[in-house]
Amino acid sequence: MNLRDNNCLACDGSGLLMDDEQWHYVCTVCEGSGIRSLEMKEE
Ligand SMILES: [Zn+2]
Repeated sequence: MNLRDNNCLACDGSGLLMDDEQWHYVCTVCEGSGIRSLEMKEE
């Protein structure tokens, strides 16, 4: 129902992450898809 729930929380659906020095790299949580995996694990 809520489509936003499918967005990767780590990268907010962008598929990219940015570190403190503004390096962009592929999100390791969703592997760049921007969509949260079904087998996500929350710790
Ligand atoms: Zn992601």
